[in-house]
Amino acid sequence: MAATLTPATETGARIMAWADTLAVHTEQPGMLTRTYLTDAHHGAAAQLAEWMREAGMTVRRDAAGNVIGRYEGTTPGAPALLTGSHFDTVRDGGRYDGNLGVILPVACVAGWNRQGKRFPFAIEVVGFAEEEGVRFKATLLGSRAIAGTFDTNVLDNADDSGKTMREVMRAAGFDPAGLPAAAHQREQVLAFVEVHIEQGPVLLNEGLPLGVVTAISGATRFIVEFEGLAGHAGTVPMDMRRDAAMAGAEIGLYIERRCGGLPGLVGTIGQFNVPNGAANVVPGRAVISIDIRAGEDAVRQAAVNDVLAEIERVCARRNVRVTVRKTHEAVSVPCAPWLQTQWADAIARQGLPVRHLPSGAGHDAMAIAAIADVAMLFVRCGNGGISHHPTEIMTAEDAASAAAVFSDFVEHFDKSSARQQ
Ligand SMILES: [Zn+2]
Repeated sequence: MAATLTPATETGARIMAWADTLAVHTEQPGMLTRTYLTDAHHGAAAQLAEWMREAGMTVRRDAAGNVIGRYEGTTPGAPALLTGSHFDTVRDGGRYDGNLGVILPVACVAGWNRQGKRFPFAIEVVGFAEEEGVRFKATLLGSRAIAGTFDTNVLDNADDSGKTMREVMRAAGFDPAGLPAAAHQREQVLAFVEVHIEQGPVLLNEGLPLGVVTAISGATRFIVEFEGLAGHAGTVPMDMRRDAAMAGAEIGLYIERRCGGLPGLVGTIGQFNVPNGAANVVPGRAVISIDIRAGEDAVRQAAVNDVLAEIERVCARRNVRVTVRKTHEAVSVPCAPWLQTQWADAIARQGLPVRHLPSGAGHDAMAIAAIADVAMLFVRCGNGGISHHPTEIMTAEDAASAAAVFSDFVEHFDKSSARQQ
């Protein structure tokens, strides 16, 4: 029996097909790698621009290479509801991370354009040229340009071939001197909303297609070096050791206990090195990384303080010298309550359960928060929630639900509720 194609399922299928088409633009055949201002990146930008034009939008590129499609409101030149996400990828990444948040709104605008529907505000869909930081080791380039917070020092960063970002931009026809003009004026942006695949297993495990993001988690990172005393694995008795690796291991287990059980708080030791270690040597040195994140800064800070105190205690007891170096700190970016409410209302109107959750990963919305209230809609990630990986998947049904909720959100979008909060 043939299934009836509703407009929503048609849109869902179109989004999935577009994601496949866009994934063809890669630097490495057989995998998806699309870094800033490579040929693959230019190809994807041209494709996005074409879909935007077909959807009735005027398209421009700014100095950072962002692709900006504008769907005018009933009054030309009106302030815009901004949406979008990034179209660069990590190496061997997934096809929905970032890209979904660009193609989904374009598919929705195409629907309104067919119906001749306009809103009292403009809609701007931004394909952010760079978010992941792969090529030039600097992240959020596209969204920072639009927020007016682009750090021009990174123009001197070089890629693996030794070309600086400045050279690469000029060669591609983007003038770094034009970056300040890429900044959007606060009065011209009503809000920024980003649709993004969850990149984690929460919605999947709870059987929910969509989630409202409460905040983009803040993060603190450390590199911790332990210095004990190397010795012979056979001859140094256990109670006479100053084992640097075991100090690191004990800290690791403490972090797991301390960060466990509190929703939104996570702690990770992603690197654990025993330099020049050997099977028959008690480790004299160990180096670990620590990454602690939480949606609420106070929760993160309390965990960081406890971990630092535990490092002192453990190293004193084990007679191990320790140096702790903070390598990164970012405060959390809360999603605006009025926008969260409007996402939740749109989800409920579509007959779906409403779930709120923090984002443990960083997103373009973090940068745009400098000029506008921001909020995000998460879409269920299949395959155990894996992302930044070729096996990242989502379903056409969830794409359809997300498109229906996004459309509903825009159709009911009301900035006046911002002032009541
Ligand atoms: Zn992303």
